[in-house]
Amino acid sequence: MINNNSPFDNALKQIDQAAKIGHFDQRAIEILKVPERILQVEIPIKMDSGKIRIFHGYRVQHNNARGPYKGGIRFHPKTDLFEVKALATWMSIKCATVNIPFGGGKGGIEVNPKELSVRELQRLTRAYVRSIFDIVGPQKDIPAPDVYTTPQIMFWYADEFSKIAKKKSPACVTGKPVENGGSLGRDTATARGAQFVLEKFLAISKVKISDDKTLAIQGFGNAGENIARLLFAAGFKILAISDSSGAIFDSNGFNPEKIASLKKKFRGVGNIMEIKKISSAKFFELDVDILIPAALENVITEKNANKVKAKIILEIANGPLTPEADKILAKKKIIVIPDILANAGGVTVSYFEWLQNLKKQKWTAGQVDKKLKKIMEDAIESVYSQSRKHHCFLRQAAYILAIERIIKAMKAKNI
Ligand code: NAD
Repeated sequence: MINNNSPFDNALKQIDQAAKIGHFDQRAIEILKVPERILQVEIPIKMDSGKIRIFHGYRVQHNNARGPYKGGIRFHPKTDLFEVKALATWMSIKCATVNIPFGGGKGGIEVNPKELSVRELQRLTRAYVRSIFDIVGPQKDIPAPDVYTTPQIMFWYADEFSKIAKKKSPACVTGKPVENGGSLGRDTATARGAQFVLEKFLAISKVKISDDKTLAIQGFGNAGENIARLLFAAGFKILAISDSSGAIFDSNGFNPEKIASLKKKFRGVGNIMEIKKISSAKFFELDVDILIPAALENVITEKNANKVKAKIILEIANGPLTPEADKILAKKKIIVIPDILANAGGVTVSYFEWLQNLKKQKWTAGQVDKKLKKIMEDAIESVYSQSRKHHCFLRQAAYILAIERIIKAMKAKNI
């Protein structure tokens, strides 16, 4: 079933658009438009009050032609099956775009983790692992963090999985704390990967931005805060930042370290006293060089795309633009560096973590950074040259590249 406003419907439209340009075997495209497996679980949890609450959870496995399913687990009150299906589909495309040997999957629980105690959160995570155990594992399906899930939650996941498997299995999940089998550099990987892609894109495309190199960043969590810190250190000027509590603006630019400590103190950037607030609508209309959505899906749609003034949109969130917005932005000659490329640094270092766990190795931060740089730069170069070859946008080029690779793997398996 297709829900017309769902991120999954957007993912299907994106596949169709690329298929039209790439002239792919339609049977293979039909296979890519449905996940291979959907597991929906109902998880009863004893709350600290003694009451029982039932949480709805999902694990969607989209495609494993290129390797085990890979993709995060989202804890969010508005997560639903359409969202998780879309995120799983984008993971297959993403892993193929950066050419790492994984397929795509994603998990989610409809929950607001901010309302749960640490003990309740731990019970919920462990119960989720028990309910999906049969279909996941180091060679089958390897989750990771996503919105509102943390290294601590990944540790509980690994611990519960290992208990059931009766074997220490750190490679069953990535994004763990470094002292519990996590990789150095995983915490900053998504942002670092996006930085490599952006810098390489600016170098090869010769697109001109202002000398101030101005930015607006939506979302100040793992991905948003880290890209703010990295680009600030690289000389960019951050004019606006937002999170779920609101948006702030300063024409002199923000120091992200200072904003991070104020965010902690005031519980949200929108609550920080003394700093000018702007509406969420105005945030997307700012005249900046680069707009970075790093929160949730569908934030730029046909309703506000016309008002966007940025030169480049660097999609760190998954699915922040609808296909309708894409069309409007293309007419305005705004360049979109798509999620499946821009935010693939996270899954790439997850791949490094998985390899280190399997080989019982520990790579240095420098080794991780160097390998990540190579993969991300190769990916943007390949996507850029595809876009020139097919005279298409970067998103379509990335899809063409990825779908070609997935179909090749499917054919080799005789699917
Ligand atoms: P996170 O939970 O650490 O942070 C999410 C941020 O978004 C928070 O600052 C939150 O306040 C903000 N937010 C929520 N609703 C908002 C709203 N309406 N307006 C403005 N801000 C809002 O999550 P994250 O891991 O940083 O993930 C952010 C996005 O990046 C997601 O789309 C995720 O799928 C994507 N992503 C993350 C990673 C990763 O490694 N963390 C990798 C790839 C993609």
